[in-house]
Amino acid sequence: MLNEELHIATFNDLLHYFPYKHIDRTRLYYIHELTADMPFVQLRGEILSYEEEGEGRKRRLVAHFTDGRGVIDFVWFQANSFKWIRQKYTAGKALIAFGRPNIFNGRLNIAHPDLDPAENLQLGKMGLQPYYHTTDRMKRAGINSRAMEKFTKTLIGKIEAASTSDTADSIGADYLPASLTQRLALMPLAQSLRALHYPTSADELRRATYRQKFEELLFIQLNILRITRQRQQHVRGHIFRRVGPAFNDFYYNHLPFQLTTAQKRVIREMRADMLTGQQMNRLLQGDVGSGKTLVAMLLALLAIDNGHQACIMAPTEILAEQHYATFRNMLADMPVRVELLTSAVKGKRRRTPILEGTRSGDVNILIGTHAVLEDTVEFASLALVVIDEQHRFGVAQRARLWQKNDIPPHVLVMTATPIPRTLAMTLYGDLDVSIIDELPPGRKPIETRHYWQERSESLYQNIRREIDSGRQVYVVYPLISESEKMNLQNLEEGYEEWCRRFPDLKISKVHGRMKSADKDTEMSRFANGETQILVATTVIEVGVNVPNATVMVIENAERFGLAQLHQLRGRVGRGGEQSYCILVTKYELSKDTRQRIQILCDTNDGFEIAEADLRFRGPGDIEGTQQSGTAIDLHIANLARDGQLVQLARDNANIILDADPTQSLPEYAPLWKHLSELGKEAIDWSNIS
Ligand code: ADP
Ligand code: MG
Repeated sequence: MLNEELHIATFNDLLHYFPYKHIDRTRLYYIHELTADMPFVQLRGEILSYEEEGEGRKRRLVAHFTDGRGVIDFVWFQANSFKWIRQKYTAGKALIAFGRPNIFNGRLNIAHPDLDPAENLQLGKMGLQPYYHTTDRMKRAGINSRAMEKFTKTLIGKIEAASTSDTADSIGADYLPASLTQRLALMPLAQSLRALHYPTSADELRRATYRQKFEELLFIQLNILRITRQRQQHVRGHIFRRVGPAFNDFYYNHLPFQLTTAQKRVIREMRADMLTGQQMNRLLQGDVGSGKTLVAMLLALLAIDNGHQACIMAPTEILAEQHYATFRNMLADMPVRVELLTSAVKGKRRRTPILEGTRSGDVNILIGTHAVLEDTVEFASLALVVIDEQHRFGVAQRARLWQKNDIPPHVLVMTATPIPRTLAMTLYGDLDVSIIDELPPGRKPIETRHYWQERSESLYQNIRREIDSGRQVYVVYPLISESEKMNLQNLEEGYEEWCRRFPDLKISKVHGRMKSADKDTEMSRFANGETQILVATTVIEVGVNVPNATVMVIENAERFGLAQLHQLRGRVGRGGEQSYCILVTKYELSKDTRQRIQILCDTNDGFEIAEADLRFRGPGDIEGTQQSGTAIDLHIANLARDGQLVQLARDNANIILDADPTQSLPEYAPLWKHLSELGKEAIDWSNIS
């Protein structure tokens, strides 16, 4: 049962199933001190009498409990336990009661208190009581938090009894080297494990938590940095010596604008990587619209100049198609062959020439989705892979991609989702980072406004004015994952409403259920300016680029996360005109949602928004981090709150790897052994394809 429900299979797992909170049981309260807003309280006294009240499902057992100074009611609602309770806790017996006070019918009571015979109470020894999460199924089988408490208490008791001199023998010696625990004054392993369940004081709990958090983050960083160092030592990279005709012709004759200073800087950084003889592994961060695609294109041209091929990988078909169109467009007058390969490109006649061209080297740039990873895709000489907008590959997975090539290609990961530093150090901790922190000139910051669903006419008037002056408008409806039918209905109704409001306009409609070709037709009608309004689901989230669109209306904005709203907003503000983002919500909003909306209205800074997003949701919810391949599960460390610890862990991982680069010193042997055991448990290679 423990294994099925909580994946606890061994004593060690149980030992690492930490309580989610502790409650101070070192003090007793008097009934007359209690108020309804107290969390948990402990009382000593006796039950005066029992009564059963109410009928049917409202039936309850009430006990009048006194501590000699006051009286309070205890209440139980499970009729089948009434008899048992009355027998076990007979009136007049001295009891310790523990629970959370409530107000019911104007009187204070405690529902379902924990009761113990008073002689069991040893105030000094009770200390902080652990509380464990258990599932409903476990609770039905009687395994509640108290039962878990008994299990861990027994286990820890046995371990401590078994070890004569010190607990190290049975839990296993501390795998952190003494030099490290001393330098950082970390609590020893055995003590920390005991204290996480049964701390003797709040301070001991705090120190135990600190040690465990640090340890978790340290092993993650060791894992990442070990991979990185191995790669640096053993993996060769293509050298791009030449800046040749492809790059120069494009740069001087075809590029329609000046590169921004930031674009120039990141290209220089990457050029430097490509001269070292090592493989480049770089993350390019830049807000939506900052011109990352162009950077990728220039690098691809460099690869071509040096006799190689490039591959651009996008997470969705739409985005791959968009990149394909952009590349074809920009490189139209140049002798560069660009092809598109997605799973939608079907049939021998269409695929064969692409695959053959890629194998022969005839295809210079292959753009596609995950389809480019299939075994049938072979390159004559692949020297650059760009992974756009991706979150799917973890550190370890990425390290294994294209490893079968003689010399693996340089890898550039591009993301518009600004990633807070601590999360980046974990998800992309093996990558060097380049940042585009500047938008192309002439862009005006997008103005963001919040409207209620029962919106005023002024919204429509503003939109009418924008359209009259030649601009276009996006309207986005959320995808509600529970029901695809409702999505469509939502979208259809919205579409009709917009048609009613603007009967004289042409309005496009795009959603995920449409055939790819129809979607493309509608999208390009909008992109060409044939339609003025595009009503869509979030399919337009990434990639789409229509500089003439200046208004983004997001319906049911409360259903979107911060990062996603920011991404959507980035679809406008791509030309020189003032752009607007309109967040439409229902009137009643939770506090969190109101704050989310407020942040978007206040700032356009993607990094600020990402930090806020991390605070609101925790890293687990950020798209893709679950499958991130951090390789070692986080039990108690929290990337959002423990930012400084991440840095400390990374620094110390480096110190360790410097001290024992060949992993052969006896002092570090337990550490490496523990690392490989952790890795075995958690790496999920199934994410690769
Ligand atoms: P990202 O991929 O970073 O979201 P894109 O590469 O799609 O951004 O660029 C957004 C738009 O800005 C495109 O239309 C692109 O042609 C244009 N652009 C890119 N770099 C510049 C620049 N230096 N000056 C002017 N416009 C640029
Ligand atoms: Mg892009």
